[in-house]
Amino acid sequence: MTQVTVKELAQTVNTPVERLLQQMREAGLTHSSAEQTVSDAEKQALLTHLKGTAQLDEPSKITLQRKTQTTLKVAGSKTVSVEVRKKKTFVKRSPAELEAEQRREQEALRAAEEAAAQARAAEEAQRAAEAAAQQQAEAAAQAAQQAVSAEAAAPAAPEAPAVVAEQQPAAEPAVEVKKADPASERKREEPRRPVHPAPSSKREEDERRERKNAQHRPSIKDKVAAPRTVRSGDDEEEGFGRRGGRGGKSRLKKRNQHGFQSPTGPVVREVNLGETITVSELAQQMSVKAAEVIKFMFKMGSPATINQVLDRETAQLVAEELGHKVKLVNENALEDQLAESLKFEGGKALHRAPVVTVMGHVDHGKTSLLDYIRRAKVASGEAGGITQHIGAYHVETERGMVTFLDTPGHAAFTAMRARGAKATDIVILVVAADDGVMPQTEEAIQHAKAAGVPIVVAVNKIDKPDADPDRVKHDLAGRQVIPEEWGGDTQFVHVSAKAGTGVDELLEAILLQAEVLELTATPEAPGRGVVIESRLDKGRGPVATVLVQNGTLRQGDMALVGVNFGRIRAMLDENGKPIKEAGPSIPVEILGLDGTPDAGDELTVLTDEKKAREVALFRQGKFREIKLARAHAGKLENIFENMGQDEKKTLNIVLKSDVRGSLEALQGSLSGLGNDEVQVRVVGGGVGGITESDANLALASNAVLFGFNVRADAGARKIVEQEGLDMRYYNVIYDIIEDVKKALTGMLGSDVRENILGIAEVRDVFRSPKFGAVAGCMVTEGMVHRNRPIRVLREDVVIFEGELESLRRFKDDVAEVRAGMECGIGVKSYNDVRVGDKIEVFEKVQVARSL
Ligand code: GDP
Repeated sequence: MTQVTVKELAQTVNTPVERLLQQMREAGLTHSSAEQTVSDAEKQALLTHLKGTAQLDEPSKITLQRKTQTTLKVAGSKTVSVEVRKKKTFVKRSPAELEAEQRREQEALRAAEEAAAQARAAEEAQRAAEAAAQQQAEAAAQAAQQAVSAEAAAPAAPEAPAVVAEQQPAAEPAVEVKKADPASERKREEPRRPVHPAPSSKREEDERRERKNAQHRPSIKDKVAAPRTVRSGDDEEEGFGRRGGRGGKSRLKKRNQHGFQSPTGPVVREVNLGETITVSELAQQMSVKAAEVIKFMFKMGSPATINQVLDRETAQLVAEELGHKVKLVNENALEDQLAESLKFEGGKALHRAPVVTVMGHVDHGKTSLLDYIRRAKVASGEAGGITQHIGAYHVETERGMVTFLDTPGHAAFTAMRARGAKATDIVILVVAADDGVMPQTEEAIQHAKAAGVPIVVAVNKIDKPDADPDRVKHDLAGRQVIPEEWGGDTQFVHVSAKAGTGVDELLEAILLQAEVLELTATPEAPGRGVVIESRLDKGRGPVATVLVQNGTLRQGDMALVGVNFGRIRAMLDENGKPIKEAGPSIPVEILGLDGTPDAGDELTVLTDEKKAREVALFRQGKFREIKLARAHAGKLENIFENMGQDEKKTLNIVLKSDVRGSLEALQGSLSGLGNDEVQVRVVGGGVGGITESDANLALASNAVLFGFNVRADAGARKIVEQEGLDMRYYNVIYDIIEDVKKALTGMLGSDVRENILGIAEVRDVFRSPKFGAVAGCMVTEGMVHRNRPIRVLREDVVIFEGELESLRRFKDDVAEVRAGMECGIGVKSYNDVRVGDKIEVFEKVQVARSL
């Protein structure tokens, strides 16, 4: 070792310079300043002196520190050196003993590692190990401190073991350090004995050690002298180093385990869920691989793909099952955002063409009128080439443009209205001058009035010799459609759809009416429209006819249509010609949607495909809920729930009856019910069965459907069922009035209601001398029972009520016959059964009606 200054030496031995200088002086050296150098010989002299005085001196005064020291961190801040003490251990013990100890330790270490590997998951063990490590570390720290304090000064490293070895007090703590070596739990439990013998067994232990060491127990001097021992010492040192290293590694390992285990508990993330989320987005929010989510969903029994869109409930289930928290984002936020994003400020509102629907009784000339106008007026030259109807067209006149919805009848009109869409500005009511006002004429008036749409009357077939336009005027005036010349607000135009007379005047009248309505739209705004009809075309996919109501719709726009969406791939006008854009009141066919929307669905143009998809899926989910909510709201029992507090509550009724007499009687009685707070309004009524159109009217006006001695046809029943409308059949006027009264006073109690069990259609009628008229029937719905009450219906109108005389299948009397089977039915005391009649089998049940 080369020369060092006093200061450096003082630093090395970690003692104050002053004290070192004093010790040096005591050792007979002449150093007086910190900068003076100390030679090896001088160091030796100092050492010899200290050796002599060490036992008297405070041992902690000079501490040996080595670069090769291993350090043990205790409680994060204290660092304890363990190197030197290990050497002391070596000095204290025989090599054989150390080897045995080493072996034991290695075994213990292996066992510990195995145990740790096996029970890695067992938290208990981990905690124990942790506690043990902590305990050991503390012990080590203690020991180290003691050891360190016990060490004698030894400037030259090689001598240090020998020097230290002589310091007995240092021996025990040194052993302690070894114990601190993080060997294992096993070591902790059992091998403490040799390392830290209990006082009683210490002697035994020593004796055993003696025996093992055979005859020769090398003295310290021997050890120092004997190369083998020294080598062994070196080995030992190395061994310790190694072991220390390994121990360090193992400690590190443990630390690592510890370091990871504590925070590796599942990380709970907050997952924000809107109405829908894709599998990959969900995985991303949970910070797991999409494959994990897919795997989990597969296990749940609902296989999914990475881009699959999950509804909120499913996503919530998945997220929660995987241990994450779910935050639901505002239900309506999406629609609100959409409405906000669709707001269009600016742009000039310009006049737009009126949109017209043609209504009227069957055969009064609706189709003829529409065809004539189309033929005569649509884009002149190309009219001949029209091969397809797209459900709407527009015509240019000198005074302006008129758009016709080419779906005559009430069904289309009310179906749209039922969806809350208002596509029609003006209704043309076609009344054949030779036929006058007919049931569907009345119905059309009711629909138009319910929708608040003005009527222009086209008195058609004026060319016919028996045309009587004045009678039409009279009849209509009696139904609150009053001609202008009589002081009303309805224009009457005499036309002939066949000859074309008066058609121009009709268009004029429409435009005049439109002016009164002051219809406007903003062509600069993003396109917005309503679906007139849609279909799935084999070659072109979903095709929707849309009437643009505001803004301009362009090819390439991202359209959101009801629960569907898609980029408009192509746009065609009413002649099937491709167009790039369409402004207000122009009907177009659009291609590119992902499905066929319903008539009445609204079209909006969005900038963002993601948003369009999100809203479309949101609506798909919402669709069911709306249906359920509507089913609840539409019941007579709940009909008042949804009305405003301030306004007069109105019970809307659509009433169909078998004969005009009972209809009028009922209308009169029902309208008379009510008081200051509640009233009854018959929004629709007529003679004949309940049709699809009636059901739609009821749906659109939140009305209850009453059938007096009439029944609903299949189409109407479908809507009633789908939309959850309240439809009731009656055969006693008094019952209807009672029920309505109860509804008005909110006193609906329990009631006897009828369930229709089955319907059989009469296909043939035989005369049997024994049974009278026997009807050969096909059971079309449900089941016909022999012993239940029946009614005979003709054109959906009740003509007889009674019971069965006989029910037979192939000459056998049977108790019941199922749908799809033929049977012979004899009706008791009724012989006027005809082909086409229906026999309805019903039962009466007590139904509790709750509010
Ligand atoms: P819709 O059921 O209301 O659509 O009635 P249509 O348009 O099918 O007409 C029924 C029948 O009346 C057809 O045979 C037409 O030819 C006829 N028709 C329609 N308009 C006129 C008209 O102005 N004059 C005459 N004489 N016949 C007409």
